[in-house]
Amino acid sequence: MTGITLRDIRKSYPNGPQILHGVSLDIQAGEFVVIVGPSGCGKSTMLRLIAGLENTAEGDIIINGTRVNDKAPQDRDIAMIFQNYALYPHMTVRENIAFGLELRKMPKAARNAKAAEVAEILQLTPYLDRKPGALSGGQRQRVAMGRAMARDTSVFLMDEPLSNLDNALRVAMRTEIKQLHRQLGATIIYVTHDQTEALSLADRIAVMQGGHLQQFATPDEIYDTP
Ligand code: ADP
Ligand code: ADP
Repeated sequence: MTGITLRDIRKSYPNGPQILHGVSLDIQAGEFVVIVGPSGCGKSTMLRLIAGLENTAEGDIIINGTRVNDKAPQDRDIAMIFQNYALYPHMTVRENIAFGLELRKMPKAARNAKAAEVAEILQLTPYLDRKPGALSGGQRQRVAMGRAMARDTSVFLMDEPLSNLDNALRVAMRTEIKQLHRQLGATIIYVTHDQTEALSLADRIAVMQGGHLQQFATPDEIYDTP
């Protein structure tokens, strides 16, 4: 079974209030789901739980048929793309893209081949030998996507990936992300507080409020209801 199922996810921090109050969600394989909601409603926490970056909550997190609650991040079939890119300034684009592969002990020739393949898709080939400091914001964001793509996973988790870009670039990158989604056929869960972004990207939108899932429906169903 592919796709992602969240069943009755509850989360609180030690000595803190409850952050998620029993969230359930069924995401189809290949679907682009955008999680929206006001700041502090628990969007990032949801994503970090799915990624395994946050201690296991109550409930079930099932990725492509496997319950992953007790699995480390690297053993889940996911790649995460962060808002601040998390690139290494002293490494080239090629090295940044291939970074996770080196940790996995893939030989250098294979790593470079994989980086080249990913760079081609993202139109980064001319920049493979540059360092992030010599790239534009959009190019840096593409390198961050490239590192995630090199992992060969079928699920991408994106936490406000465009929020550090200026408006024109943000609109351009939306189109790129949409194209990439079609090209890869991957499942994407994308967090934003920007409704326009949600509308232009999502197959379905999950609306969160105060740690509850309020609605999970297509953009038309959510924004055309009286
Ligand atoms: P969102 O992404 O929707 O802005 P978050 O998931 O980041 O919301 O945060 C939800 C709530 O959890 C907020 O009230 C935040 O202050 C709290 N929170 C987030 N991380 C921690 C933490 N490590 N310890 C305690 N509280 C946290
Ligand atoms: P491993 O070799 O153990 O599979 P990786 O080389 O894939 O690990 O990555 C090392 C660590 O960094 C892991 O914890 C992995 O989850 C994390 N990591 C690296 N890149 C990403 C990414 N794009 N998304 C999510 N986690 C990542």
